[in-house]
Amino acid sequence: MSNEPTSLPLGHLPGTRYPDHRIEALDKRFPKQGNAAIERIATGFRWAEGPVYFRDGGYLLWSDIPNNRIMRWLEDDGHVSVFRTPSNHSNGNTRDREGRLVTCEHDSRRVTRTELDGRITVLADGLEGKKLNAPNDITVASDGAIWFTDPGYGIDGEYEGHKDTFELPGNVYRLDPATGRLTVVADDFVRPNGIAFSPDEKVLYVVDTGITHGGPSHIRYFDVDGGRLRNGRVFAENFAPGMTDGLRVDANGNVWCSMGWSDPAEDGVRCYAPNGDLIGKIHLPEGCANLCFGGKKRNRLFMAASTSIYSLFVDVQGAQRP
Ligand code: MG
Repeated sequence: MSNEPTSLPLGHLPGTRYPDHRIEALDKRFPKQGNAAIERIATGFRWAEGPVYFRDGGYLLWSDIPNNRIMRWLEDDGHVSVFRTPSNHSNGNTRDREGRLVTCEHDSRRVTRTELDGRITVLADGLEGKKLNAPNDITVASDGAIWFTDPGYGIDGEYEGHKDTFELPGNVYRLDPATGRLTVVADDFVRPNGIAFSPDEKVLYVVDTGITHGGPSHIRYFDVDGGRLRNGRVFAENFAPGMTDGLRVDANGNVWCSMGWSDPAEDGVRCYAPNGDLIGKIHLPEGCANLCFGGKKRNRLFMAASTSIYSLFVDVQGAQRP
């Protein structure tokens, strides 16, 4: 399964039979959905990240970063079209508590919100007179606070943004919804990346993809104390020489993270129980960067994996709406 070409057609992967052998349960806690198999729902992108599902609209959006566009897939008929171009080489996307799209933009080095009428509001583009690097991934807490990472990959070169100078360290930020004030909540990452809360929002998980720059390849977790983080620890490791990039948490508190950039047999998604036990894997034909939960019943996992988007129904819902 690891050597399948990326020019595969849409639909179920060749050789699929039930149960799908590409879904590997390592523990009874893995919320595998019996006869559900991996589907490729869209392909032909240069590098896909930042999936976000709109249940009210019945569609999925994601960023195709080098192509400088946000794509849209309609759930009812599978139609794929360009949602926005140029996207300022957008990366991570999510929705706020009012359902508005919130986006990390590499090229413009900012975080934006798309209002319900389509206007774009800049939420954050700098700190104390210095530009953000290139915001990467993002989540919104139930109090409306926007938490995001700023590793700066978008200014490393001309492919996913533009080459530019770092003015700030690779921080993790919290944007206060009431005041608009931006604060650094973690400053000890090499390259902070994927970010997600536990269901009760008492824990924040943040990926460090520092391995791309001589640092670690792991997921850390923190106790959330109001607008601050405390007690940072390693939650999951053993990704090197590959890495995880993005993650989401389900309603049971399991942490689902992407996997790629090493052994092709490890390409796909990993699922960890809240205590850190690895309980399952989803093997994809391509390295995976980001994922999200969605679907009409919120039990469908969407995986942005290199040139394609894959989906799989699972036996659990995502922790955060939609
Ligand atoms: Mg990322």
